[in-house]
Amino acid sequence: MTFSIHGLAVSRGIAIGRAVLVASSRMDVAHYFIKTEQIDDELLRVRHAKDAVVGELIKLQHSLVGKDAKDAPAELTALLDVHQMLLQDQTLQDGVTHWIKDRLYNAEWALTTQLEVVSRQFDEMEDEYLRERKADLEQVVERVLRVMKGVASPIASPPPPRKRQGGQQDLLPTDAQDVPLILIAHDLNPADMLQFKTSVFAGFVTDVGGKTSHTAIVARSMDIPAVVGARTASQLVRQDDWIIVDGDAGIMVVDPSPIILAEYGFKQRQGELERERLARLLHTPAVTLDGQKIELLANIEMPEDAAPALAAGAVGVGLFRSEFLFMGRAGKLPNEDEQYAAYVRAVEGMQGLPVTIRTVDVGADKPLDGHGDKSSDKGHSHINPALGLRAIRWSLAEPAMFRTQLRAILRAAAHGQVNLLIPMLSAASEIRQTLRQLDLARAELDNRGAAYGNVRLGAMIEIPAAALSLPVFLKYFDFLSIGTNDLIQYTLAIDRADETVAHLYDPLHPAVLQLIAQTIAACNAQGKGVSVCGEMAGDTGMTRLLLGMGLRTFSMHPAQILAVKQEVLRADAAKLQTLAGRVLVADDPAAELAG
Ligand code: PEP
Ligand code: MG
Repeated sequence: MTFSIHGLAVSRGIAIGRAVLVASSRMDVAHYFIKTEQIDDELLRVRHAKDAVVGELIKLQHSLVGKDAKDAPAELTALLDVHQMLLQDQTLQDGVTHWIKDRLYNAEWALTTQLEVVSRQFDEMEDEYLRERKADLEQVVERVLRVMKGVASPIASPPPPRKRQGGQQDLLPTDAQDVPLILIAHDLNPADMLQFKTSVFAGFVTDVGGKTSHTAIVARSMDIPAVVGARTASQLVRQDDWIIVDGDAGIMVVDPSPIILAEYGFKQRQGELERERLARLLHTPAVTLDGQKIELLANIEMPEDAAPALAAGAVGVGLFRSEFLFMGRAGKLPNEDEQYAAYVRAVEGMQGLPVTIRTVDVGADKPLDGHGDKSSDKGHSHINPALGLRAIRWSLAEPAMFRTQLRAILRAAAHGQVNLLIPMLSAASEIRQTLRQLDLARAELDNRGAAYGNVRLGAMIEIPAAALSLPVFLKYFDFLSIGTNDLIQYTLAIDRADETVAHLYDPLHPAVLQLIAQTIAACNAQGKGVSVCGEMAGDTGMTRLLLGMGLRTFSMHPAQILAVKQEVLRADAAKLQTLAGRVLVADDPAAELAG
């Protein structure tokens, strides 16, 4: 039966495919397709790992009995029996074989997919005792996965991700490898999303998350249709259901009827045509009708994103979110040389164009280690993380870690134009401490005789307090970059990652607009650089307004660059000043802008 679920639109386009339900805690297994001739190897890998775990369990049981039979807790030995039974269970085995043989999933993916299927069956059981066995099943599968981790797949590396699928839905593909897959999860943290950057998925849906949550931001950077905040999606959808993800409208359709499929197939083709049309603007300079040159820069998460950003028409990187280098490493932070190598890769990837590296911004919805286990995060504030030890606050609390990053960035600056950007500053004292650490980092490099380059120094304006104390920022910094995602969050007291208040997250709130306009005006008046690097910069509905406020540098996901360029080419910046003036004093800025 066809039904639809509404969420928040985060990444444009339409994806049509089969649902792959993944539990958040099992994101870190590899997901890739194998070749037919590898089926036997993958089946064998699961069998060996399973046999190894059965062996472990039997050994454990013997050791318990061996010690002193009467001391051995009866419950524990019974539990070990249950674990062995669960492992040998035919539904688990048949399912895993099915996903490997018929769908060509790699062994770990097959195992976690079948775990999800069986877990749901447990959830539906009346009997409480049986229902509780789900946790046992999860434990034994974890054990198998752990054994498999130690035995690498014979397949050297996963094949590259498949391209967006287009126009084949009138006739839904039946060949396993041709079926696009849609990942459905309760939650995905940014580190998980990053892992999926090189994965097989054609679309994403999550139950939780806001439009500018970092999970949504990474989804956008992958340029595949995504919906977040779809509340109960992961409970209502079953493994393998046919799904449509409408990333423009924030809707997912489950089990679509032929008429609906045809309609979305049409929309999908329209989207493809629009992309082809925009591609013609790739080499056109971004200049307004009245001759204003506009800089369109890219936001990137990893050094490897630099080359594609360049190919997408970016004239530099306006925001390299360096924290992604720090995530998912079980608390082990990258050392100076590792970071240096990563920054140099980004600089070289941009072939002489400037790269703005933002110092680490972990905390809030970007835990260092994934799976919601924030307790493992160093220095993470648990009470109210968005207001806690985040970004520069964490860096200043861990000066050795901060200087390691600063030294790596300064050294990378010897290889090209690097701008250093500091997140979440709010007060002069923090600015002074930051500059002191920068001086110390330079001195440390001097002592070592290490080569390093000059950097332009920038501050993010993402806390209202910063936007309201611009003179002190302008005194110390060469440029400012407005982080509208956080500026909106902190001005309106709306958690950007919380879908329950997403309707109140309003980029066009008069207070937000005032802070943005004032920052742009103050920088322009002093001849200092100013950019917007929050999601507003890539929103074509905002381009005219930002141009009218005097913004000339926009930093966004590479996938948005050509659409924004199209707006720029159609705009008359001088005339838009009048529009911006009207919007800034309007009771209803959205209505005034729509006009
Ligand atoms: C912002 O806050 O707008 C920004 C660009 O930084 P981030 O989204 O990484 O918090
Ligand atoms: Mg921010």
